[in-house]
Amino acid sequence: MLRVGLTGGIGCGKSRVGDLFASLGVPVLDADTINRELQAPGHDLYAAIIDHFGPGVLDARGHLDRGALRSRIFTDPGERQALEALVHPAVEAAIEERLARLPDRPAYALIVVPLLFEAGWEQRFDHVIVVDCDPFEQVERVSRRDGRSPAEVEAIIEAQMNREERRLRADSTIHNTGKTTDAELAQQVADCDARLRQQATTGSRRVENPPQNT
Ligand code: ATP
Repeated sequence: MLRVGLTGGIGCGKSRVGDLFASLGVPVLDADTINRELQAPGHDLYAAIIDHFGPGVLDARGHLDRGALRSRIFTDPGERQALEALVHPAVEAAIEERLARLPDRPAYALIVVPLLFEAGWEQRFDHVIVVDCDPFEQVERVSRRDGRSPAEVEAIIEAQMNREERRLRADSTIHNTGKTTDAELAQQVADCDARLRQQATTGSRRVENPPQNT
């Protein structure tokens, strides 16, 4: 079974693309969702984070206050590394555990990891797909979806890997610009699915990145 990573900048359409793969019967895991689950009270990761950061990162209900945690790591790279050293192995182990529990042996599983390149996770995957769109569309979509200010979304985009580098590192790119229709997006996903099934049978580590029409 191949491990295929799906990444892309904030609001580029990873969830939308992940849903299309799932509709083809592909098992889809989401690293962010798993991370949130593991940070809920009762989990080892929750306990380890409190152990390191102290009770100041808890809200009134005893849940981890993600905003408080974010501000602790925002200005302190050492604390960011400390958090990542706790989170990454826990999420990775949970992903492996879930992959091992998949009922049938699928050709491949898709794992959505928003900060895949930033976390240095690309070697963990047999193939990495990037969902790509224009930064102005990211700002527009995320402001509309989350009610964040455009400046706030721009700051998040700025802190992530830039679009060009992400595209250069990808094995496949799925274009989800403002002009991409649902049918076109579904077609790109179907084409990518066919290439991945072929890669799974040939066993080659990577298939050629096909020419992209931007
Ligand atoms: P995040 O990084 O925040 O998790 P994401 O990459 O998973 O986001 P989605 O949630 O799939 O992105 O899409 C972001 C928003 O943009 C959603 O509200 C979605 O409905 C909308 N959207 C996605 N693709 C398009 C498109 N081609 N045209 C218009 N809106 C779109």
